[in-house]
Amino acid sequence: MTVQQQSTTEAEYFVGDEQMLIAGEWTAAADGRWIDVESPRDMSVIGRVPRGGAEDVDRAVAAARRAQPAWRDLRPRDRGDLFRRIADALEPEQERIARLLSLENGNALRTQSRGETQFLVDCFRYFSGLAGEAKGESIPLNAEVLDYSRREPLGVVGAIVPWNAPLMLSALKIAPALVTGNTLVLKVAEDAPFAVLAVARICQRFLPEGVLNVVTGYGTEVGEALTSHPGVAKLSFTGSTAVGRRVMEKGAERVVPVSLELGGKSPQIVFPDADEDWVVDGTIAGMRFFRQGQSCTAGSRLFVHESIFDSFVGKLVGKLSALKVGDPLDEASDMGTLVNRKQFDRVCDYVSDGIGQPGVEVALGGLPPTEGPLSRGYYVEPTVFAGVSNDWRIAAEEIFGPVVCVIPWKDEQEVVRMANDSAYGLAGFVWTRELGAALRTAHALEAGWVQVNQGGGQVLGQSYGGFKQSGIGREFSLEGMLDSYTQRKHVSVHLGR
Ligand code: NAD
Repeated sequence: MTVQQQSTTEAEYFVGDEQMLIAGEWTAAADGRWIDVESPRDMSVIGRVPRGGAEDVDRAVAAARRAQPAWRDLRPRDRGDLFRRIADALEPEQERIARLLSLENGNALRTQSRGETQFLVDCFRYFSGLAGEAKGESIPLNAEVLDYSRREPLGVVGAIVPWNAPLMLSALKIAPALVTGNTLVLKVAEDAPFAVLAVARICQRFLPEGVLNVVTGYGTEVGEALTSHPGVAKLSFTGSTAVGRRVMEKGAERVVPVSLELGGKSPQIVFPDADEDWVVDGTIAGMRFFRQGQSCTAGSRLFVHESIFDSFVGKLVGKLSALKVGDPLDEASDMGTLVNRKQFDRVCDYVSDGIGQPGVEVALGGLPPTEGPLSRGYYVEPTVFAGVSNDWRIAAEEIFGPVVCVIPWKDEQEVVRMANDSAYGLAGFVWTRELGAALRTAHALEAGWVQVNQGGGQVLGQSYGGFKQSGIGREFSLEGMLDSYTQRKHVSVHLGR
């Protein structure tokens, strides 16, 4: 990475110009254009990345196609071994990469970016061990015929990731796509490209030229060029449902398989027996307040039983008021900033909408400060709207900010109906010690992932993905790797001839 000459303190907050990785070389955009990248902590420009376009995607796909046959024919265990070595090489770089991540996307270093960087290393190790697991089956037809299946790679994968957890989401595409023998063109988000590019620099020391290519630029330019490219055999997208729809359209034009990890508006259901501190802590974690709510799995509709409503909201407000919102690079900060002006304006628009709803109780937060240190970046304090109705806009649409809607409920069937009354179906959380109620509710929720009495993040090994408009396909697991990045071929051999 070219770090331009700065004083020591300034250099920590400045990245400079970084390039794209195409065919094993670090390169600018073919037409020489650049994008400024801003840090949301203080709205300063921290560097630039190439504004890639169709010509760059052409070169990247061509390189990935050239590299694929030899990469496919490498022994799977050897491909896996490269990822174990990459993980080892990443380990001493974790702190530097985590700081870069906080600088570019505003997530707090202590509560989010370090953990995400650790996930990246774990993810590479996990899939390195699965490289030999793309096994086929033999089918007992009759004594004369040996019929067996093989799992083969698809070819060149085109993958697109957002800014909210770029290391985690890139790792979940790079590792399973490559260990199964595909090659990859990854498009990183224009708002958070640097940490992933730093990882790519380390991967590049181990991988043959053209196996991993990383392009930068805008979705409507380099992203569309990738989803439309005839040389791409599979599309894997993580981002908003609106763009996911577009990616699916582009895949449909060429009948290319598409995996989608999209948005959510996930419910958390708190039963009458759960008016306790550990549950409040769990719902705060489930709401992903430590990532300013910028998580697809955020449990942003909090259904609290009417018998404990006021008491629970009181505890929630008490704990959220104690969180420190501040500079993402400061060890004292529990929460950092939203990623950019667009998200900041969007979240403020929802907050204004919520404040204007007749009957709403703004239990905490509201519009962000316009003066003082927090007005210098995209900081929004935790906001709690109580007494919300499930059909209000703030309860129906994905806000992707630190805003929770607390909705009272009376009856188990009614709360399940409200929880499922959403176009999304990504995650759900159930809080009660009553086993029957917990499992009845977990089974009734229309969501790909339900947690009972915990509000943690995804774990490697689970097949994670959405129901309804939250996506198609699964990630994080062996099963997800096989379904997303291999195709089955049957070979039928007549033994008598
Ligand atoms: P986004 O859909 O706007 O952008 C995601 C990526 O797609 C970016 O790299 C962007 O440049 C690219 N893109 C935009 N338009 C494109 C186009 N026409 N063609 C190709 N690529 C295009 O999403 P965002 O605002 O960056 O991220 C937030 C969204 O991502 C939220 O909805 C969130 O729920 C979702 N998300 C889902 C998961 C999951 O696992 N389900 C994980 C993280 C984020």
